[in-house]
Amino acid sequence: PLAPALAELRERLSPRGNIVSEAGRKRTIDVFGKPLSPTEVVETICRDVRERGIAAVLDYSKKLDRADLTPETIRVSQAELDAAHAAADPAFLAAIARIQQNILEFQTAILHKEVEVRRNGVVLRQRYQPLERIGICVPGGAAAYPSTVLMTAVPAQAAGVSQIVVIAPPTDFGANNRDVLATCKAIGVTEVYRMGGAQGVAALAYGVEGIPKVDKIVGPGNLFVALAKRHVYGEVDIDSIAGPSEVVVISDETTRADFTAADLLAQAEHAPGASILITWSRTALEATKRELERLVQTISRSELTLQSLRDFGCLILVDSPEEACRVTSEIAPEHLHIATENAGALLAKIRNAGATFLGNYSPVALGDYAAGPSHVLPTGGTARWASGLSANHFLRSSSVIDYSAEALRDIAPAIQMLADKEGLTAHRLSVDLRVE
Ligand code: NAD
Repeated sequence: PLAPALAELRERLSPRGNIVSEAGRKRTIDVFGKPLSPTEVVETICRDVRERGIAAVLDYSKKLDRADLTPETIRVSQAELDAAHAAADPAFLAAIARIQQNILEFQTAILHKEVEVRRNGVVLRQRYQPLERIGICVPGGAAAYPSTVLMTAVPAQAAGVSQIVVIAPPTDFGANNRDVLATCKAIGVTEVYRMGGAQGVAALAYGVEGIPKVDKIVGPGNLFVALAKRHVYGEVDIDSIAGPSEVVVISDETTRADFTAADLLAQAEHAPGASILITWSRTALEATKRELERLVQTISRSELTLQSLRDFGCLILVDSPEEACRVTSEIAPEHLHIATENAGALLAKIRNAGATFLGNYSPVALGDYAAGPSHVLPTGGTARWASGLSANHFLRSSSVIDYSAEALRDIAPAIQMLADKEGLTAHRLSVDLRVE
């Protein structure tokens, strides 16, 4: 039965699906002296950073990440950024430059443009201005993500943000990672801090000695980062609360089963990552299953990937292409890959998806790494109402109203009527004086 299965899937894909490991729970007891829920952990850390500033950030970096930092060494120096860039493989830097160009081209093209409406004595404008200072969370607990630097910082640059701050945990996969630092340097990001988790988010949101507060915090992270972003929202803006990554692949008999299996494995490799195949062809389903079993043996993280497939994977056999589109829209996946014949025609029937990939030659990895749209996308069914990160998320809009005396006289009765209804006499007076 589809409905309860989808409900269960959606629950698993919510940010709550970001599970805290046994080691994580042990660490909580070590640091806080008692078992706290992740929400309590995050509230405690944020409160402490707000009250004690940089001292609290350094304390949590020591306790949670075993890093001995000072107010000076928490910032990655220019010399360290230069050294990472100088030591980087030229082929890596060439790839970064090419991807940066792709992202910049797309993100600049989609930027909101100023709008002006003019009629008899009336000028209305919608202006767009970039945010001044933003913070980017680059994860660094389980793997290094130079791609996250590109997919968040370059859209902000396209929008014209002048101060871009990157934070990453003080770990080998985070702010001590040469690829991450070389990427920052290559694209012109020079303010990088060694801090992660809730303490990093709180420092960005409240500002601490030496680190001025930002206007918006974006980027992925584990459960503690996600909960901290939710906690500080209102103090600053945030992009989204991301849960585990997901893909729905719609396939038919024209789809290469080995391609599809590799795409499903790529998502499961995030561990946790949800991989869902939807097809109306039993032949395609069986072929994908065989390819999954074959290809999983060939990848490096096969045990973790298999576990993720067991926890979050599913193969759904539907009656028709229409049902495939209906089920997909219900799931509202972060990534949708329509790998069928006539993929464009099916897309027209899909209501909800964070990012869509069409045909046999547009794997999700293309969007993850290189195409141009950001890979920071709505997860856990939030594609029903949220959009992926883009340059437009780094703009604010503000309206401008400019009326002539005649135009005000023309609309005055409507304003006076509503001001009377609401009993706001000063509002009415401000118009009366001008039209008398
Ligand atoms: P992370 O770097 O987001 O967070 C690590 C930090 O969490 C640590 O520095 C520590 O301060 C804090 N922490 C860890 N255990 C804690 C505990 N018990 N109590 C309090 N704080 C604790 O971690 P990560 O492991 O690298 O996770 C990154 C996540 O982001 C993964 O789920 C990954 O799949 C996801 N991701 C998503 C995208 C995307 O665009 N969707 C890209 C890259 C990564």
